[in-house]
Formats: sequence, structure tokens, C-alpha cells
Amino acid sequence: MCGIVGYIGDQEAYPILIKGLHRLEYRGYDSAGISLINNQGTLSVYKSKGKVSALEKSVEGKDISGTIGIAHTRWATHGEPNATNAHPHFSQSKNLSLVHNGIIENYKSLRAELEKNGMTFCSETDTEVLVQLVEYMMNSHRCDLYTAVQLALKNVVGAYAIAILEKSHPDQLVCARKGSPLIIGVGTTPSGRKEFYLGSDATPIIEYTNQVIYLNDEEIAIMDRTGRLDITNLSNVKQTPQLVTLQMNLDQLEKGGYPHFMLKEIWEQPAALRTCIRGRLNVVDKDVLLSGIIDHKDKFLKCRRIIICACGTSWHSALIGKYFIEEACKIPVEVEYASEFRYRNPVILPDDIVIAVSQSGETADTLAAIQLAKEHGAFLYGICNVIGSSIARATHTGTYLHVGPEIGVASTKAFTGQVITLCLLGLAIAKEKKTLPDELFHILVDELQQIPDKMQWTLENNKDIDKFAQMFTYCKNFIYLGRGYNYPVALEGALKLKEISYIHAEGYPAAEMKHGPIALIDEEMPVVVIAPKHGMYEKIVSNIQEIKSRKGKIISVVTQGDEVVRNMSDYSFIIPDTRDCFVPMLAVIPLQLLSYYVAISKGRNVDQPRNLAKSVTVE
Ligand code: GLU
Repeated sequence: MCGIVGYIGDQEAYPILIKGLHRLEYRGYDSAGISLINNQGTLSVYKSKGKVSALEKSVEGKDISGTIGIAHTRWATHGEPNATNAHPHFSQSKNLSLVHNGIIENYKSLRAELEKNGMTFCSETDTEVLVQLVEYMMNSHRCDLYTAVQLALKNVVGAYAIAILEKSHPDQLVCARKGSPLIIGVGTTPSGRKEFYLGSDATPIIEYTNQVIYLNDEEIAIMDRTGRLDITNLSNVKQTPQLVTLQMNLDQLEKGGYPHFMLKEIWEQPAALRTCIRGRLNVVDKDVLLSGIIDHKDKFLKCRRIIICACGTSWHSALIGKYFIEEACKIPVEVEYASEFRYRNPVILPDDIVIAVSQSGETADTLAAIQLAKEHGAFLYGICNVIGSSIARATHTGTYLHVGPEIGVASTKAFTGQVITLCLLGLAIAKEKKTLPDELFHILVDELQQIPDKMQWTLENNKDIDKFAQMFTYCKNFIYLGRGYNYPVALEGALKLKEISYIHAEGYPAAEMKHGPIALIDEEMPVVVIAPKHGMYEKIVSNIQEIKSRKGKIISVVTQGDEVVRNMSDYSFIIPDTRDCFVPMLAVIPLQLLSYYVAISKGRNVDQPRNLAKSVTVE
């Protein structure tokens, strides 16, 4: 998920690698490390928790010479962020060092198998399994590193970009990828010889060369000091490298070619959610596997109430989670603002499960709320994005979002990641409690798996929002309406607009309009209505009529093919059809884009909106 840098050539590797790590800092990370082979053939690994600057401090006075090396910024997915779990990881004999981006899904069974064969492990990571597996293959097949990597990767399920150094072959660098990006930069040294750079994106490479090769899935590459670069697939079939000339500057590269992190993260959602459900949703066996539920099954079977504590956007995803869990598991769910909950002497019973939802896992009020619940004997479940965060540590168990670091202050991919995680949670509990008929359970599993593709469709079929949004540059107010599962989406749409454009916006359950807010409607008022073709469709059509007859402007989110609401609206965003309960993950996308483009047309600083912090660690 985070960053890789590599170098082999005539130049000293350390300055190139450290600079590269600094270039990758924008991606967010929790620890960093570097591995070098010096001219005497010593393979060293240095790593530390925290910033790249801490790594630089930690190597002061140490031998950092060498013209080959790999380096890494880790964004933990398996095992706490600390120096031991940081990359690079040594193999048992210390002949190999390896860095990895991604997740090895079957690491537990691989590790057990390797341990049976006498291999010992130092860290809690999925990554260490890879380097040990490669060494095991080298020894058991008496083969070279390249062949061992091919053999090892054939046994691996998951996503990886890896780079490996071998002490006994200090003139070569091996790398491979599947599911996580890896780029090879081809440069020329001052003495006119070929040199190679590696990067998980082009930012650490671009200042040295604009000639790059994007490694494809399941390709392995070997580079050496003679300028040789060979690429094959896992079955050893030779591939022809495609050299591409990069035409972007550093700033554009950091944001993946997008002008802002927020837009990048909006577009990243399909891939992020695929990672989130990977290994957890099994469409072949129609199963949902969440270790947090499996390992504490008894707690969920006897639980009589779930309380979800959250703040801001996470509170909105929690509300969607409530609707789904109540429907699927028949357990009453209460959703609480953590800041209210912690100060109001709530009734918390020992049979309650308290779920904390927080992107950063550091939200002060949410942390305090679960500490209070712990004192009352409740079982605590954390849903966070940041591994090893305070909430992750304070809870008994939980599920990580695995959507990658979120840099934009206004949350987008963490929101949809939370929603899909809560849906997985609901399905996993329903499975244990047998509260859903098998047939419906299977339909929901299949449908949930299609959500990332449908998100992609939604992104690609709403590309003119940028032009449409300009109409609202001088608009003072907005109303967002939804019913059922889409009421929280209305709240989230309104919040996004407030956060980054500073336009006043209100989200309401559509039927509540007539109890007051309808007085606000006139020809100046844009009303965003989430109106998919589901359960309460007819009712929401009536709500639209009520607004239209008072001259409000209707902007609707409609299901593909629905001409009725489309014709009633001044403008429509289209989403593909899905189950009612999963609509929020699609419907929120045009609303994220609308708020983004309105903010842009107002000239706002989208990634750093005024007065807001990414992680609210104060109450
Ligand atoms: N899954 C690996 C770990 O937790 C790699 C994380 C990353 O991509 O930074 O160490």
C-alpha cells in the first residue's frame, strides 16, 4: 500500500533511496527502512518507526555505503507499526532482504508450513513470510533467486510489489508485482552506463530519468550492473519491456495525475474497496470471513444490542451500518455521537457490543467513548483504517478497512470503505446467527462483490459534473434528501459540501421536509434528492413533486434507466442498479464529485479546507 524505492548502478545508493523515501512521504506511512550491500559484500538492514527523518537519524555513524539498495515506507496492514515489523525483512540466513507493498492473504497458512520446516520469524507481518518462502524455495530446489521468486509467488494469494537483494549476488536486483504497482526507471550514469531505479510510483524516479517501464501483474524482473534487464512472467515466459517516456512533473505525479488528493481518492474507491473485501468475501463458496467475528462468535450470538460510536463522516457510515445490521441480523443497533455518548451516563450492559468507527483510529471522543464502554464491561470492536492506532489497540478485536492512507481532509474512500466493512460485518454476524435465508445471503454476497465495478461505472458515467457544478459557484444553501439507506447519504453529501466549499447545506430524511424545512424552498434552493428505484421510490417521487411545486431546483441521483425521476429533475446523476442496502456506496460518489467541483469553482483549497484537521485528536 505504501512506498518502495530501489537502485542499482554506479552511484551511491543511500542518497537516492532516502530522497526517494522523502518523495513518497505524501502517501502517508508509519515506519521506514533501507537495505544496502556495500563493496565488501555486507548486506545491511536499517529500519525505524515513524518518519524517514527518524530513519536518517538512526543510521548516523553506520555504514551506508553501497551502489545497490532497496528502501520502503510501510503503511501497516499486518502487525503494529514498529521497527521490527518495518521493512526490509531479512530471510532466516540473512542472505536476502525484501520490501513489499500489498497484502499476502494466505500468509498464515504459509507461515505455519514454513515453521513446520524449521523456519523462525521475527515479525508479525505477512511480508516476512514472502522472504522466508523465497529462501525456502532456493534451498529446497537448489535454484537461483529468480527461479525461487517465481516458485514462491506461485504459492502466494494476494497483492504484492516486491524488491529483493541477495547478499551472495550483489550485482543484481530482483522485483515483481501483482495488484500493487511497481515501476522501473532506466537511466544512464555519469560514466555512460545503464542504471536502474525502482519505485512504487514514479515520484522517486522522475528526477533521474523519464524513461520508465510499468511492470505488469505477475511479472518478475531482474536488473544487473551490466545493464541487463530481463522480464518474465511466473511461468518463465519472456516478456518484452515497453519503455514509456513520462511527461508529468513531481506534483502531478504525487497526486497520480489528479489535481488534488481528494479527487484521486474519489477515483481510487473501486480499487480500495476491492482490497477491503479481498480475502473476506468469497463468491465461489458464497461466504464472508471476518476473523473478528469468527474468533468471538459467542459474543455476537449472545449480544442483545450493538452501539456504534463515531463522529462526522464515520457517524454517517455507522448509520448505514445500523440499517443493514438491524435488517440482516435482527439485533437492535444504536448509533451515537461519541462526544455525546461519553458525557451522558449512557446505559451500557455487559451483553452490549460497542463498535467504534474511525478512519484514523485516533479520534479523541470515540476513544473516550469506548474507554467508558470498557469500564462498563462491554465487548469492543474497532473499525479503523490505520493499523495499530489507539482505537485498534483499545478494542478487543475489529476489522481494518485496508483502503490505503487517506490524505484528503474530506473523507471519501474511508467512508465507502467503512460502509462496505459494516456490510461485511452484518453478513458475517447474520451467517453465525442464521438470520438470513441462504438464498438471500448468497445474493447479497454476489451483489456486494460487484460494488467496486459498479462504482467504477458510476465514476465513468458522471464525467460532466465539473461543468454542471459551476452553476452553483455563488449559491448560498443546499438541501440534500434521502430516505431509508439513503438518508445517511444525504447527510454525508451535505457534509462534504460544507467541508470543502463552505456552502451551507442540510441533509434531511425526505419525509421530514413537510415538518419545517419545506419553508426554505424557493427558486434559489437546489435540492439534491437521492431517488434510486427501490422500496420507497414512489414516496420519494411524491417528495420531489412537493419541492417542484414550490419551484425548488431538483438534482437527483437516479437508477440507470429511470426516466421518470430524470424527467422531473433539472439535472440527474446516474448510478447502476444494486440492492437497496448497497446503494449508498454508489449514490455517494456523484455527491462527492459535486462537492469537489463546486469547491473548485469557488477556488477553495480542497485538500486542506479551513479550520479542519484530518485526524481529530482533541475533544
Ligand atoms: N502488508 C505489509 C505489512 O503490513 C505491507 C504494508 C505496505 O504495503 O506498506 O507490513
